[in-house]
Amino acid sequence: MDKIYDVIIIGAGPAGLTAAIYARRASKTVLLIEAKSFGGQIINTPHIDNYPASPHISGYDFASAVYGQAEELGAEITYEKAVGIEDGAIKKVKTENNEYKAKAVIVATGSENRKLGVEGEDELVGRGISYCATCDGAFFRGKTVAVVGGGNTALEDALYLSDLSETVYLIHRRDGFRGDDATVNTLKERKNVKFVLNSRVTKLTADKKLKSIEVTDKDGNVTELEVNGLFVAVGRIPENQNFASVIELDGSGYAVAAEDCRTRTAGIFVAGDNRTKEVRQLVTAASDGAAAATEAVRYINSLKQDG
Ligand code: NAP
Repeated sequence: MDKIYDVIIIGAGPAGLTAAIYARRASKTVLLIEAKSFGGQIINTPHIDNYPASPHISGYDFASAVYGQAEELGAEITYEKAVGIEDGAIKKVKTENNEYKAKAVIVATGSENRKLGVEGEDELVGRGISYCATCDGAFFRGKTVAVVGGGNTALEDALYLSDLSETVYLIHRRDGFRGDDATVNTLKERKNVKFVLNSRVTKLTADKKLKSIEVTDKDGNVTELEVNGLFVAVGRIPENQNFASVIELDGSGYAVAAEDCRTRTAGIFVAGDNRTKEVRQLVTAASDGAAAATEAVRYINSLKQDG
């Protein structure tokens, strides 16, 4: 346990793995610490159609390829949950059972989709339920879908899907939207978008694939909607809480950092969906990994110059 790595990367999703590739190519020693399995949330996407030069690749194949690349370059990986970072000239990353040391740390823990919490939701992911309209919307061309949520993600998902699908139900638990009025107004003009307000999804019915959803309004009236797809857009939960002592978090829990991925603590960087940013996509996660590793390498090299 006394080894001091150049860089510890917490999270082996697209951001973390890309950071590992960049750091290894700069001849830095790298330890990836991953709580679940490599690949992050992209591993659940059946087809990635929006990553340049990789049409139709599955999330699993994509993640395996990036993982293989990082491993071939010599990045080490351990499967443990990181529970904290202790700052210092040498940083200590604590996991549930161990402690690892490095000159720089990149937090690439991503964010989790907030779930609806309806029975059967997990089992139907990839079989009708999706958390990403731009990833999976094309599979519902000409079909009937529902979007749940009242924020900008739900509104933009509904708009995106209304260009592809025959009918889009927009289901929101209130009658006022959190997202932009302009998008709400555009949606109201779309003939194939139907607003289902003051309502929650209360039941999922499936026969291998999702067939219909039960929606209950605030007065208790129940409606059955036949849908092929259900896009859940009820917010995300960034996984930064364990690192709040060294990273500034915004009101929603995202790690505050600009495009250079630096946090308020020198030598600690943040990359991917857990960072404050506008576009949270595979391509921007990879981009963050490159930026964070480049900054981490600069930081480590500056330590050498300082003696
Ligand atoms: P959000 O703004 O937090 O909205 C989440 C929505 O889900 C809210 O309408 C909330 O309802 C609803 N919700 C939460 N939990 C629910 C549950 N258990 N059941 C049913 N509904 C539930 O999340 P977001 O839309 O993902 O946006 C996140 C941030 O990114 C926002 O700041 C947003 O403006 C930004 N964003 C910006 C753009 C853009 O600028 N183009 C695009 C996408 C996202 P209530 O309203 O009743 O709380």
